[in-house]
Order: sequence, then C-alpha cells, then structure tokens
Amino acid sequence: MTMMGGNPMAAKQQELKRIPRPTQKRIEAIFIHGADFIDEWPEYWIAGGYDQSESFCIQCAEKKLAELLAKEPGGEYCLDGGWCVEGDSQAFCETCRRYLGNCFTQYACDEELNYYDEMGCNPLSADDCYSMENILGSMGWEFPTCKDQSSYDALHQVCQAMIERHWWISATEYGQYLHMWQ
Ligand SMILES: [Zn+2]
Repeated sequence: MTMMGGNPMAAKQQELKRIPRPTQKRIEAIFIHGADFIDEWPEYWIAGGYDQSESFCIQCAEKKLAELLAKEPGGEYCLDGGWCVEGDSQAFCETCRRYLGNCFTQYACDEELNYYDEMGCNPLSADDCYSMENILGSMGWEFPTCKDQSSYDALHQVCQAMIERHWWISATEYGQYLHMWQ
C-alpha cells in the first residue's frame, strides 16, 4: 500500500456510511434468497493417513475412500466430517467442485470483502449472495467490543456501494424482485 498524504484508510473511514438496520434486514433477505440457489453439500474428508486438507461431498468421499482401500486393503482410512467446520475460504469438493458448507473465519471474511470492495457485489448473483450470507453469518453487522473495526467498515462499504449501484434494493418492496434471479 502506498502512503501518500496521510493514511488513506483513515480518510476512507471518515466518509463511510453505516447501513441502517432496516436496510440491513432488506439486504439480508436478498442474500438469503440468492444463496438458496446454491446447492450446498456437507463437507467430508478422509482421516487415517490421507491429506485432510482435501474436502469432498459425501458421494465423492465414499468413492475416494473405496479407491484408497482398494489400493491398500489394510489401510486405516475412514470418512470424517459431515458437520460445519471453519474454513479460510469457500470449500468445494475436490472431485466434482460442488459447494461445501463451511463457516468463514475472519480471514475468509476479510478476503471476500476485499474482493467485493474491488469488484463490486452483485445482488443478483447467487454466488455473491451465498458468500455475503456466509460473511454475515460469521461476523454479523456489528460487534461493539471489536477493537479492529476495519472488517466492519469493509462490510458496510461493500453493501453501500451495492445499494448505490442497484437502486431497486431500496425502492422495491420485498418479494417484488424475487423473479430477478431466474
Ligand atoms: Zn463431489
């Protein structure tokens, strides 16, 4: 980051608009609706000696396990997972690239928010809605005791930019825009 004429982040924060609570609820409804279009599967991995950083959907995990045991009949490989674990990024099945449900760490939230700050968040993209819903599920809109507000500033900034670009978010009654994802 270049530092010219003072701290650019501090200047950015001064002009930050906080999203009011009623608008937060409206945005949340949009994200939840858009995220419903994503077919999310539980995350599995293979314990007992296989690389546990590789995640699979249940179908591919069972297939992988069978392959490993066929190669090594006495192996101690077994399926693990099936519940929500924390991840530093969105998890996908190693084999079929299905979305796997995980909880975003703060690092994952910050990475996603940096991306949307730069590229913009599209409320009509199921993928964007899904990520933003994961972010809100992990960090919420506000955490008053948080010493470092930069993640929350980024969240409000991304949503503010989205509202400015997509006027219908503020102007349309909830439910009237639901057809727009098709
Ligand atoms: Zn799979």
